Amino acid sequence: MPSVPFRPTLPITILLAALSTVAVAQNPPAPATNPFGGIPQMTQAQQENYSAQLLDQLTEIKTAALSDDYAYNQVAHLTENIGPRISGSPQAKAAVDYVASELRQLGLDVQLEEVKVPHWVRGAETAELVEYSGQVAGTSQKIVLTALGGSTATPAEGLNADVVVVNNFDELKKLGREHVAGKIVLFNEIFDKQKAAAGISFIAYGEAVRYRAAGPKAAADLGAVAGLVRSVENADYRLPHTGFSVPAGIPAGAVTSEDAELIAHLAAQGRVRMHLTLTPQKFPDAIGYNVIADLKGTEHPEQIVVVSGHLDSWDLGTGAIDDAAGVAVAMESAEILQKLHLHPKRTLRVIAWMDEESGGAGSQAYTKDHSSDFPKHVAAIESDSGAAHPLGFDIRMSANAADLLRPALNVLESFGATALQPSSYPPGADISSMSEAGVPALGLRQDGRTYFNYHHSAADTLDKIVPSELRENAAAMAVVGYALADMKEPLPR
Ligand SMILES: [Zn+2]
Repeated sequence: MPSVPFRPTLPITILLAALSTVAVAQNPPAPATNPFGGIPQMTQAQQENYSAQLLDQLTEIKTAALSDDYAYNQVAHLTENIGPRISGSPQAKAAVDYVASELRQLGLDVQLEEVKVPHWVRGAETAELVEYSGQVAGTSQKIVLTALGGSTATPAEGLNADVVVVNNFDELKKLGREHVAGKIVLFNEIFDKQKAAAGISFIAYGEAVRYRAAGPKAAADLGAVAGLVRSVENADYRLPHTGFSVPAGIPAGAVTSEDAELIAHLAAQGRVRMHLTLTPQKFPDAIGYNVIADLKGTEHPEQIVVVSGHLDSWDLGTGAIDDAAGVAVAMESAEILQKLHLHPKRTLRVIAWMDEESGGAGSQAYTKDHSSDFPKHVAAIESDSGAAHPLGFDIRMSANAADLLRPALNVLESFGATALQPSSYPPGADISSMSEAGVPALGLRQDGRTYFNYHHSAADTLDKIVPSELRENAAAMAVVGYALADMKEPLPR
């Protein structure tokens, strides 16, 4: 789950670079003045870095991936045999052991990197409206909700408080402590479905998720007894969607869109009183692990290309699209190379990150332990935007570096994963510190139109993954990962 929005526009330089699709050895670069007029040709730098043999190997990798169900089988095991993998859980540990053992079986050099992670366990979660304007005698209204990660508990028997509905932080501020203290605050920010339908769902997510992340804390700061948000979600099937929230010291939850609407309607008519029970438990921090597995480079083993996804998930569903799929396609990148007996010059490092969802402890530990090697990290790829049909990559790197990715992306043209979209933000939460340190960073970008229908809900399950689309994702990660690991020169910064 990237926490930052993607930029919606495709700069013209990248669009033009996309036209240089055909390798014509030894020809001079196409004149920049009329890029639409000639037969696209590789630039000199592209020709120098992509031998004919490398281009053949990239096609061979793609073809193999498009008929390989290794990644799908990994997702199936992680989701159906292991289950939800929230930080600190026995399932998270089982997933670490499983992925490590699978990668050892592939012949990789596997290390477990210890990470201190939060250990929070969901409890009962119920709510009902017990008093409201126009209430018919003997009635109440059930509210469907779920606790946000790290939420504190209400008393076991629940608490009763009036609900105040706000649409944004400004409205909360205007109400002030006088009207907020002792109450339950509901942030009724609506996820913009039209943006999602138009293909910019991560922008819609970025706009709405601020309230999930910071709303309960803002309410607590004004004396609220609990903080609720409207679920950050794109499909109205009365499913609550959980997620990270800044520790607020009060119970924090997400109600479904339907229930947010109900509460807002009734609150517009008068007083609304809720009985709220959330009984999660917070335990002392637990030990988790990043799985780090190297396929050692033959010429420059010290130069590293990271391919990655995160192994932890939320606990409501089984974390298939977020993010067993990302881990699985990273694993398959190594599996394909081993199957085809391809030995890249540089080290391909598969990382299954721990704790992306509950605070990012895995990424922080990796930065602490490896930042002195970041100058030798040639590039880092993460897949954490689902498992749907891939469109290409969001990238944060120099224009020269992006230009050198183009021949590899062209190999993916048969299924359309050719977009290279510059991002001003790191294109993956777990690779963000590498990106900030100057490591060229790539986020595999999928068709995200339905991602937030399921994201962080009980409906994030294996059946949401279309096997052929997951194969395309594996092909994209494996082709670009291998190109980065075997190009003549390391990708420039
Ligand atoms: Zn995620």
